[in-house]
Amino acid sequence: MKRKTRMIHGGISEDPATGAVVYPIYQVSTYKQEGVGGHKGYEYSRTGNPTRHALEELIKDLEGGTAGFAFGSGMAAITAVMMLFNSGDHIILTDDVYGGTFRVVTKVLNRMGMEFTFVDTSDLENVKREIKANTKAIYIETPTNPLLKVTDIEAAAVLAKENNLLTIVDNTFSTPYWQNPLELGADIVLHSATKYIGGHSDVVAGLVVVGSEQLARDLHFVQNSTGGVLGPQDSWLLIRGIRTLGIRMEETEANTKAIAAFLQSHPKVKKVYYPGLETHPGHEIAKKQARGFGGMISFDVGTSENADRLLSKVKYFTLAESLGAVESLISVPARMTHASIPAERRRELGITDGLIRISVGIEDVEDLIADLTQALA
Ligand SMILES: *Cc1c(COP(=O)(O)O)cnc(C)c1O
Repeated sequence: MKRKTRMIHGGISEDPATGAVVYPIYQVSTYKQEGVGGHKGYEYSRTGNPTRHALEELIKDLEGGTAGFAFGSGMAAITAVMMLFNSGDHIILTDDVYGGTFRVVTKVLNRMGMEFTFVDTSDLENVKREIKANTKAIYIETPTNPLLKVTDIEAAAVLAKENNLLTIVDNTFSTPYWQNPLELGADIVLHSATKYIGGHSDVVAGLVVVGSEQLARDLHFVQNSTGGVLGPQDSWLLIRGIRTLGIRMEETEANTKAIAAFLQSHPKVKKVYYPGLETHPGHEIAKKQARGFGGMISFDVGTSENADRLLSKVKYFTLAESLGAVESLISVPARMTHASIPAERRRELGITDGLIRISVGIEDVEDLIADLTQALA
């Protein structure tokens, strides 16, 4: 099955009981047993729900893994994955990970006795240097948010295997349509499905796919024990979103390439970050490991005053956090998504006050470029 077909016919795409061509919403918490323990695969919806299961089978298929898991948010998914580890374990993470990931590991999981080190994983020498006796995993986000740095997943997975570590990849920005980390050797791939997978700014959800039976058992145990599961209605919305993921990502890609070229040639734009540009330091690796470069662009307009002026003039780019939806969104990472990162650390990372991030939607690209043209004028 080709990828666009799998988005529609993968997983459990129909209801065998009724023939419905869309899998129904099983809005139910418990299931009748014919005698104690005699059930049809479902006992209680925290443990398993048919609609959530249909989604979990679908994302498993799309990422090419052993089992899929759906959670109430991307952060719940990330937290559940971290619960696979023990007090005293050490994990090495990409330095400009999503702000919420940085927050949960430095303010919550650190209190449980886990240790974390942040390095620029786009150079794996930095990772190698930090591996210690208690290191258990490498946690990569690629491309990153908002500077779109790229890490070589295959090389990271080789390094991890040599040292008996797990490789975990946050694949939110690329989606399973463009990039499949398990096929590149990673052990666990996760998504904030709130973004491209849902795609319509109407669901908060997280998905995880693992690459072994052991990890599948362990993560199901954590999911059932800690209970951060996705409800049936939202599971259904994600299945619906995934049906158009392929065409949305193709449209997004075409629009993003045109906008990146426009911004790069604009005199008021100091710098453009987009892995699809040949000048981007991660371009070659991105081209090797992904089939597309995604819909995120960051660009620097110099000062926060310039950024505010642009924000006050754009018509089609909605000022909002989040990304990956059909409508174009715009944000200032330093004061929005990355505000929870201390100012000094932001500067170290290169997240300047004049940095603007756009999530390109699937509107007509001529309207989007005309909008940016007038806003930059
Ligand atoms: C949004 C996001 C998350 C967190 O997901 P939520 O659904 O908001 O909890 C994690 N990683 C990345 C890359 C994100 O963009």
